Amino acid sequence: MEEGIIVKALSGYYYVENSQGTYQCRGRGLFRKQKINPLVGDRVKFEIDQNEEGYVYEISERRNALIRPPVANIDQSFLVFSAEEPAFSSLLLDRFLVHMEAMDIESVIIVNKIDLADESTKQELNQYKENYERCGYPFFFLSGTKGEGVQQLTPLLEQKLTIAAGQSGVGKSTILNSLVPSLDLKTGEISKHLGRGKHTTRHVELVRMYGGLVADTPGFSSLDFQDISENNLDICFPEMRERMPACKFRGCTHRKEPGCAVKEAVEAKDIPNYRYDHYVTFYEEILNQRRY
Ligand code: GDP
Ligand code: ZN
Repeated sequence: MEEGIIVKALSGYYYVENSQGTYQCRGRGLFRKQKINPLVGDRVKFEIDQNEEGYVYEISERRNALIRPPVANIDQSFLVFSAEEPAFSSLLLDRFLVHMEAMDIESVIIVNKIDLADESTKQELNQYKENYERCGYPFFFLSGTKGEGVQQLTPLLEQKLTIAAGQSGVGKSTILNSLVPSLDLKTGEISKHLGRGKHTTRHVELVRMYGGLVADTPGFSSLDFQDISENNLDICFPEMRERMPACKFRGCTHRKEPGCAVKEAVEAKDIPNYRYDHYVTFYEEILNQRRY
């Protein structure tokens, strides 16, 4: 049996790539009976018969899986924001970061459209860059349309399966196009809007680039906290994760408990206030959504 990775799923076929090439395969009948749905990104065992027809027999356990786009085993996400149009939002960024942490996906923060930022915005964004780098997140400023800074991203692709995520209009397609010129994705909200509907079946394909695989379909499904428990929220903040073993109480929620190492770090300005506030906001959101 051969091993490979599904790089494309279309019309009942799975295209499985390994060092020898790419093979068109069907899933074995048992998958349908067991409601197993092979996904792009799945590492699989497959077999090719004399007619070069392949069958996928076995799917390795997944590290994670997204619904939109449907991709499994994502190593890394490029979280794309823009300096302006739309303006950078640390609340939305923190929301993305928590989801990525919960799914065991590494995050790279990208602030695009830096050409549109004035001096005071740049200063503010530089402060954010410092904060997030201190948490261990790589942080880059780019201008996708000018092609400035995009080359900083290419070494990060090596050996990884990467997706791009972010609000619409921030420049995800522009950046993907300049990383992978063969993609030729539509850019600009208006043209993309008109294009929608015509192509109702969104399918995703992995493209090999700079020694890694990149999902050609940007986007992300809903960002509610459906799959995250309030008890695991603190470990999704690296700077809290690091300090919570020093909290006085086991199971400290870092809100009202005495002897909380996280709150002490906030008071000492070692953790920015806004990051802590977002933790509390998300915590309450999780509690509230459970009530319904
Ligand atoms: P997506 O919805 O995230 O895929 O965003 P697009 O790539 O479609 O870009 C949305 C709009 O922003 C388009 O009109 C782009 O030309 C524009 N845009 C993308 N990158 C930049 C940039 O670095 N600077 C400026 N000024 N505009 C950009
Ligand atoms: Zn605590």
